[in-house]
Amino acid sequence: MPFIKGLFTPLSLLMAQPIAVAIHGGAGNLTPHTLPTSKVQEHEAYLKSVVEEAYHLLEEGRLALEVVEIAVRRLEDAGYFNAGRGAVLNEKGFVQLDASIMDGKTRRSGAVAAVRATGNPVTLARLVMERTNHVLIVGEGADSLAKLWALPPLRNDYIPHASPVWTQGTVGAVALDKYGNLAAATSTGGIVGKKVGRVGDSPIIGAGTYAENGLIALSATGHGEYFIRSVLAYDIAARLRYAKASPAQAIEEAFKDRLESIGGTGGVIAVTPKGEVLFYFNTPGMYRAGKDAQGRLIVATFR
Ligand code: ASP
Repeated sequence: MPFIKGLFTPLSLLMAQPIAVAIHGGAGNLTPHTLPTSKVQEHEAYLKSVVEEAYHLLEEGRLALEVVEIAVRRLEDAGYFNAGRGAVLNEKGFVQLDASIMDGKTRRSGAVAAVRATGNPVTLARLVMERTNHVLIVGEGADSLAKLWALPPLRNDYIPHASPVWTQGTVGAVALDKYGNLAAATSTGGIVGKKVGRVGDSPIIGAGTYAENGLIALSATGHGEYFIRSVLAYDIAARLRYAKASPAQAIEEAFKDRLESIGGTGGVIAVTPKGEVLFYFNTPGMYRAGKDAQGRLIVATFR
């Protein structure tokens, strides 16, 4: 499997305050045969604009936590991806959204699942983190908080109901700010035709999302049940902590030992404390973009 990783040169050692950001728009059967070129170009242009905006905010000194929320909101609003406005429908034909966010500085986290009341569940997740004593709030409880906090609603006409294959893709963002803080966020409509109330890995801290200063920030996409069973995001972080693996090794080995060994497919994006950007996936493609500490921009969909 190809490993696409930001170049880490001695130059970055001289840079006092590395910053970096990466985003994804989902992994899956994305190939030049399954996707019209015009769609790929449109989506990549959008991903590029989101990454450039996020990087600019980091340069201005915004916190990684704020930046991952803003980036994921843009991706939720796009309608191109399986999150927010573009989310897929469950088996009963309605949308239930999952999202989470994690602050690597404090390991404070917020998450929501099976939400119907807002098109920006990542913001609801952040407010759960900041305004309640809880980490994960689901269903009706999450919907009433979205209303209480006056978040933008998810209207029926907000959703492109006939989801073409290329809208399928969870979204996520990871960032490193000037102050050395890492953060991660993930948002999804889940899996097409899922059971009512099904919750995937995206709102599960340690499965689809994880960030810890000094270690790594991660956002995953793929078949969520396998990511939960593999505790994939935290398994990668644990390899860095206990096995002292390199970030690239930790990701590759976690995929092989934990995910692929039980048949899981998907991908992950990561940012390291040095400002490296890493992408890894075992599917044909993953919508992805990133800008590392050297200012190197990557925007891609296929291998
Ligand atoms: N991981 C998401 C879920 O299982 C789906 C995806 O990434 O496409 O809910």
